[in-house]
Amino acid sequence: DLSTRVPPLEIPEFNRLAHSFNRMAADLEGVEQRRRELVSDLTHELRTPLTIVRGYLEGLADGTVEPSPEAYARLIHETGRLQRLINDLQELSKLEAGYLPVQLQPLSLAPLLQQVVRRFADQLSETGPLQLKLDLTSQLPPVYADPERVEQILVNLLSNALRYTAAGQVTVTAEDTPTAVWVTVTDTGIGIDPVDLPHVFERFWRADPSRDRASGGTGIGLAICQRLVELQNGQIEVDSQPGQGSQFRFSLPKLTKNP
Ligand code: ADP
Repeated sequence: DLSTRVPPLEIPEFNRLAHSFNRMAADLEGVEQRRRELVSDLTHELRTPLTIVRGYLEGLADGTVEPSPEAYARLIHETGRLQRLINDLQELSKLEAGYLPVQLQPLSLAPLLQQVVRRFADQLSETGPLQLKLDLTSQLPPVYADPERVEQILVNLLSNALRYTAAGQVTVTAEDTPTAVWVTVTDTGIGIDPVDLPHVFERFWRADPSRDRASGGTGIGLAICQRLVELQNGQIEVDSQPGQGSQFRFSLPKLTKNP
């Protein structure tokens, strides 16, 4: 019997090497697993609207679907979703490939916040069930960020806040802290379950896939926001209470003398 004659290998370097190989293999398996999930999610996301579009077109062609305004509206809605999905995916893949479309520069946040909030508010009725306001109480110091990317983050967060709030209030605030300015989007909407909160920044994650898909979401917006915030050396956080509302906030570093 070999095991009784050969002493067990007790070489520390060997053990360390074996350990690190095991870890590498586990990491690679994780990457491969996530890639497989991504492809399968993606296939599903693309197939759903495409199946609907094809069904309508076949129905129109053989006369079983009336060429009604509703039918065309549905076709436009579904192709719009495909388009958004592809745009979002392209943006996300650029970000993940490490192609950095951010140009950091000294930036005054207040005018940017005002402009974006005004644009959204203009689309809401003043007496409607949904109110949007910007609440800037203090003077904001300049930050070091990319205006286009900050706008993109804000547009994403505001679209979500309005999409997931049937009636109530959406408020944008900004707060000056020692090293960063925090921008907060608060809504009084449906909120997010505590068990779901850790997943909201994951690609394709949605609290309720069929409901959130019908509302026009792609499940990529927050993943993009998170990458964009990171590229600008900030942080993004969420707090939420089901039935009460959600609060998304992100930070941007303040402009220092030697950025
Ligand atoms: P989507 O395009 O589906 O909104 P996001 O990545 O922007 O994708 O958001 C992921 C999911 O997080 C949404 O599908 C929704 O379930 C949830 N969510 C995001 N923002 C809010 C919000 N303000 N209130 C409630 N749920 C939200």
